[in-house]
Amino acid sequence: MGWEPIRKSAAERAAANLADYAQTRRDFTWEQARGWLSGLPEGAGLNIGYEAVDRHAVGERRDVVALRFLGRGDAVTEVTYGELARRTNRFANLLDSLGVRSGGRVFSLLGREPALYVTALGTLKHTSVFSPLFSAFGPQPVRERLVRGDAQVLVTTPGLYRSRVAPIRDDLPQLRHVLVTGDDPPPAGTISLDAALAGVEDTFTVPPTDPEQMALLHFTSGTTGKPKGAVHVHEAVVAHHASARFALDLRESDVFWCTADPGWVTGTSYGIIAPLTVGATMIVDPGEFDARRWYANLAEQRVTVWYTAPTALRMLMRYGDDLPARYDLSALRYIASVGEPLNAEAVVWGQRALGQPIHDNWWQTETGSIMISNYAGMDLRPGAMGTPVPGVEAGLLQRDADGRLRMDDGVPRTVDEPDVEGELALRPGWPSMFRGYLHDEARYAACFAGDWYRTGDLARRDVDGYYWFIGRADDVITSAGHLIGPFEVESLLMEHPAVAEAGVIGKPDPVAGEVVKAFISLRDGYEATDDLRLELLGFGRRRLGSVAPKEVAFDQQLPHTRSGKVMRRLLKARELGLPEGDLSTLEPSA
Ligand code: ATP
Ligand code: MG
Repeated sequence: MGWEPIRKSAAERAAANLADYAQTRRDFTWEQARGWLSGLPEGAGLNIGYEAVDRHAVGERRDVVALRFLGRGDAVTEVTYGELARRTNRFANLLDSLGVRSGGRVFSLLGREPALYVTALGTLKHTSVFSPLFSAFGPQPVRERLVRGDAQVLVTTPGLYRSRVAPIRDDLPQLRHVLVTGDDPPPAGTISLDAALAGVEDTFTVPPTDPEQMALLHFTSGTTGKPKGAVHVHEAVVAHHASARFALDLRESDVFWCTADPGWVTGTSYGIIAPLTVGATMIVDPGEFDARRWYANLAEQRVTVWYTAPTALRMLMRYGDDLPARYDLSALRYIASVGEPLNAEAVVWGQRALGQPIHDNWWQTETGSIMISNYAGMDLRPGAMGTPVPGVEAGLLQRDADGRLRMDDGVPRTVDEPDVEGELALRPGWPSMFRGYLHDEARYAACFAGDWYRTGDLARRDVDGYYWFIGRADDVITSAGHLIGPFEVESLLMEHPAVAEAGVIGKPDPVAGEVVKAFISLRDGYEATDDLRLELLGFGRRRLGSVAPKEVAFDQQLPHTRSGKVMRRLLKARELGLPEGDLSTLEPSA
């Protein structure tokens, strides 16, 4: 499809944190990255909360703004590293006073407000386990996760408590304490967070922390089925920090904005931990997507590094190029995206409309940090996910026609030629690799083949080592002997001016095995007519030949997960009249 690479100038290369990819990949060790952090005083181990907050609070960055919370209107609340240390100290002391022991599970069900960040970092400093829930979850998804995660403490708002938790509280005998935000008298059965925090000291010493101690419990997005609870340990902070420097080009002078909610792993690894370990200033917007507000945030907050997601970018693209032209985006120096395949179209749009190309990167809840990425100092191939982060070894495993790995004596065969697809796999050993799925050892064991961790995604690698996403193994379509990744078809359809977004599935077919069906949402100004349907079918056929969609349906409300991914399994279940499965993470349609 011929997208030109986006070349980086010699000056851009030299200025990047990762100035020489090839050499760093050769020489870099995780041991070295450990040295970029402080470690607990007197060799007492490694603690995420200490690295994110305390080490800056005792040093020169004490008075630098760590978090800047944007309010509804123009109101802004700033919290310095020093202040964040005191607040998280109080939270850790509060856990002590409630009798919570190291390893106890502390959940949050909060919007992006200060209490969420204090809960997360205070819990980590205390050496309890933090697990964030997305504040828009209904009572059932909340109950599921609190039960499965053995929640002892929950921090939430009075409103969320009444609507989501009170109705199910009787099902949660292990939940000992519910702390609620706000000034009003707390609902029956809960404690006022602020009053409790006021009653404890603002000094606290992080206890010795074994780097292998469990720190975070993160539920996956539920795109392919029931969400799994991934277990992460304190050592993960080494990878959070190093990957933010390499893949997000992040530095302490940056104003950083990660648009992901901490209810998803991106919003924790890069929306709380990594930028603070770097000592940057992070902005937090409590609101949902709003094109004008987002552009205003970038301009007015002088955001320098922005980490967002393909769905958001596609929504911004729908508004066209004139809108961003009205804002001063001159501070912006680096944009990255994760969560779903990023269409080449969007990468190039970024350069044209925002003044910066979008750098795609790939990772999962399980991997804890960015694994494959494009970089500030490297040429960018629109449509490619990039190359492995230094310290990460990636590979592709051969699969047979039925999707089974090809094995020799328990060792999977790898794909060694360029441009041949295989299952994307990683060699465990990086610090933020998950250590298990909570209460599901069999599922965890099934993720490994020989020395490889299987990601469940299919990809290919070009001759220069860039990885290209094909699809999730579960979503891939087999039609008349071809293996079709829905992403390729979706990306192509998006090149048509009428198409805002597409979701592509395989439909059983007696002759071909499966045929491709595309669900399409249209850009403003286009109407869902039969003529347009025929035009799109022809457009697909001319460009894709035999793998083109045989059916096109219009759907202005494609189902998405709350973390912004097209839920193809739901499109398919609905199409085939099959059970819809776990819908706890489905974004309700507007
Ligand atoms: P579940 O595992 O519950 O089905 P999920 O896989 O969507 O949900 P996450 O861990 O949030 O849960 O998402 C990781 C997945 O998202 C990856 O395995 C991949 O399929 C997709 N993904 C993430 N980043 C990219 C990217 N840059 N390009 C393509 N796909 C991506
Ligand atoms: Mg997954």
